[in-house]
Amino acid sequence: MEKYSTLIENGQWYKGNTHTHSTISDGKYPYNEVIGFYKNRRYNFLAMTEHEIYTAHQGFDDKNFIIIPGMEIAARPPDGVYYGLLVLAKKELSELKYANLQKVGPLVEYGLPWNDEQGFQKSINKLTDGDHISIVHCPYWNQMTPESLSAYSGYCAIEIYNHECLHYGRQGNAESYWDYLIKNGRKIWGIACDDLHQGNDSRFIEGAWIMVKAPGLSIAEITSAIEKGSFYSTQGPQIYEYFIQDDKVHLECSKVKKVYITVFGNFVDGKSTYFCGMTCWENDEFFKSINNKMVLDVKVNQRQSFYRPSRLTLEKYVVRITLEDEYKNIAWANPVFINK
Ligand SMILES: [Zn+2]
Repeated sequence: MEKYSTLIENGQWYKGNTHTHSTISDGKYPYNEVIGFYKNRRYNFLAMTEHEIYTAHQGFDDKNFIIIPGMEIAARPPDGVYYGLLVLAKKELSELKYANLQKVGPLVEYGLPWNDEQGFQKSINKLTDGDHISIVHCPYWNQMTPESLSAYSGYCAIEIYNHECLHYGRQGNAESYWDYLIKNGRKIWGIACDDLHQGNDSRFIEGAWIMVKAPGLSIAEITSAIEKGSFYSTQGPQIYEYFIQDDKVHLECSKVKKVYITVFGNFVDGKSTYFCGMTCWENDEFFKSINNKMVLDVKVNQRQSFYRPSRLTLEKYVVRITLEDEYKNIAWANPVFINK
């Protein structure tokens, strides 16, 4: 039977942060120091996403590290306080229409007023142009509603975890927005990032990151893998393999305490789209420990629960899994879409 996964078959894992600031915009440290903070933590890629300033610093790349050109742009539609968008390049700087440190954005380039009703969508359309992908800045922090977020399109991911937004206002977790989009049929990936402004300690840095499975470490390979969903977000737990086959979840991961399996599907009565969950614990019979890895093999609707997953038809459904270790560090896998 067909294997369903967002992860590419053959590739290496690369650790990265997609959202970072320096003194070039509103960060506290100069960019060369910030890049050093991440290199010292063995990150493989970093996007310096200054506000409305396109950034692609040269001279920091080596065989284990690259800078992804990018920026953060914003719009202020009438229904929101601040809508942010992270824009990441799919090409080398020499092939792009923007230069390092060029000012770009709705205010600067397109002449759109801050409160243009369609400013945010126009920005996504203009910037997600084949040369770039775009990621919506943490929608909870930005006071979007799930409905207002779902009215926009053209982005491949949203920030489901933003470390500084959590630190400053407990508004850094946007998983509920993600589930709203998935439940409404949207193929959207979930990104965890630091949104680093402040400094070199754990309140601000290495709070969460993405692990990308890509054929190699280049701008095109990393950003294309993100666009396809070949990555997971994490605060520590590691995923080595993950797919759905024969309506079974197969997961290989580092030692965790719990795996939450959320299934979005249709009831047997055909009436409603519904989502329901089950949780596997480390001491369940579904878990095996093989060579210091944990291996989980479980039917997506195996466990009867209050939400009665066994009543799902399993013809067309979506699975999203979340891992939690003993320190309550989380890893979020991207949703897998099954359509038989
Ligand atoms: Zn930011």
